[in-house]
Amino acid sequence: MNCPHCSSKVNLRDKTINTKELPRRCPKCSEPVTLYLDTPSFLKFAAPIFIIGSIMRSLFFPSNTVVFAIALGLGLLAGYMNGYQLKPYEETNINS
Ligand SMILES: [Zn+2]
Repeated sequence: MNCPHCSSKVNLRDKTINTKELPRRCPKCSEPVTLYLDTPSFLKFAAPIFIIGSIMRSLFFPSNTVVFAIALGLGLLAGYMNGYQLKPYEETNINS
């Protein structure tokens, strides 16, 4: 994901982003940013992996719940890794 102010690539695990202290700040330019989960981006990454995983499972591992859980887990992981976005911090978003 990229900073909305300076367009630098920002790591979700960076300690200025991965904090409970608000506002979060861009590690590069220190501008305040809001971290949010963008549902369309989340689904764009989560859905294909989950669907492909489900198809593979039905072809090769019918009724195997472990494979189903792995497909679901990988889909959610991909969604969370790619679905988080940054937008400029607004005072009114303090509880969101
Ligand atoms: Zn920045």
